[in-house]
This record gives sequence, structure tokens and C-alpha cells, in this order.
Amino acid sequence: MRIVLLGAPGSGKGTQGKRLVERYAIPQIATGDLLRSAVADDTPLGREAKGYMNAGQLVPDEVVLGMIRERLAAADAADGFVLDGFPRNRTQAEALDDMLREVGQPLDVALLIDVDIETLKKRLLGRLTCTRCGAVFNAFTNAPQAEGICDYCGGELQHRADDNEDTISARLEVYDAQTKPLVEYYADRGELIRVSGIGEIDGIFDIIVTDIDARLGRGAG
Ligand code: AMP
Repeated sequence: MRIVLLGAPGSGKGTQGKRLVERYAIPQIATGDLLRSAVADDTPLGREAKGYMNAGQLVPDEVVLGMIRERLAAADAADGFVLDGFPRNRTQAEALDDMLREVGQPLDVALLIDVDIETLKKRLLGRLTCTRCGAVFNAFTNAPQAEGICDYCGGELQHRADDNEDTISARLEVYDAQTKPLVEYYADRGELIRVSGIGEIDGIFDIIVTDIDARLGRGAG
């Protein structure tokens, strides 16, 4: 099962991706997470990426492509994956096609989680991310049981450095200009599934699974 998650920052890719991991027993490969961990470890790649991330701009393609190529070659990705935050522009989408063609494993589904811009801004401003397990909460709409503490692992919750008003605007503009055109790219090939990302997390997930299974000719279960 090879899935690409499309959707603006704050649309719920990370949250729904985590559920897809459990459902289909495939790893979630989130380029944002890989980059943040490179920044935290102060690696050469992290040092190169940091300025772009803080400005809400895309990290250069060659950096991201090298990273993703290496990650997709790992043993746990052999039977599938859910890509979260990649591809983000046409160059990356075409490079992904090439990589998958090389290993004879075409994409199954590109899943667009559709959310309007006002909702996205609100979600991103309220977003709290667990520093240990990556679970996502929201101060306004999906608050943790105890303030600042992850419900799942007890880790510390933090606002991401790029979840501030200025960077959020830049990220949404980058999405519109560079990533949104990929919706058509995958739709043209008949690989797109579009779901609304507004509503209860569990309800959205049920729709996603029903649509994916229907598309791939799998029964419920
Ligand atoms: P995310 O966690 O997906 O919101 O990504 C956070 C930041 O990491 C983005 O604003 C970009 O600066 C960078 N980033 C993540 N994925 C990519 C990608 N596929 N291409 C370029 N930059 C990326």
C-alpha cells in the first residue's frame, strides 16, 4: 500500500497518517519530521534546512530528494508507506514517480484532505505537538486532558517554531502556489481521492479507509 497524503499545513495529514500506519501496517514517512529531527541533531542537512523552515519556505529539492531516497530504501518501506508532506511540488512528484518506477512499485493512492483556509489558520495557531511521540493536539479544538502533556505517552507538548502567524501565512502561500497543483497532477492519472478534513478525526478516518479500500477493491474488515 503506497499512499501520498496531500493537503495544506494543518489539514490533518499527520494525524490521519498515524491512523493509516496502524490500519495498513506501513510506516509514515513525514519529510517535516525528518527535517525537524535533522535540525534538532544539528546535522549538516539540518543546518541547511533550518532557515527555509523557519521562513515557511520549501527546503531545496535536492536536499529533500536525497533524504527521501534514502528513507524509501529502508527495509520497513519495502511493502508500502504513507508519505506525509512529500511531494510538495512538481519536481518532487516527478522524482517520486521515477523512484517508484525503478523499484516497480507504483503509487496506489494520492489522498487529498481538503480544509478551508480560515480553519487551517486557526488549527495551526492552536496546534500542540508532542515532543516525544509526535501526536498532535489543538488548544482550541482538541485539547489534551492535562495541559502541556501528551495523552498518549506523557511527553511534553510544544508549539512548533513555524506555527506562528507570519510563518503560517508563508506556508499557506507556498502550498497554494507549489503543492496544490499536484492535486490535478494525481487527478489526471486517476489516483486522487478527495475527502473533507472538516469534522471529527475518527469520522474523517472512517471515510478515508472506506474510500481507499473501495478504490483498491478491498472488502471492509
Ligand atoms: P511540515 O511538517 O510538513 O509542515 O513541514 C515543515 C517544513 O519543513 C516546511 O514548511 C518546509 O520548510 C519543510 N519541508 C517539509 N517537507 C518538505 C518537502 N517535501 N519539500 C521541501 N520542504 C519541506
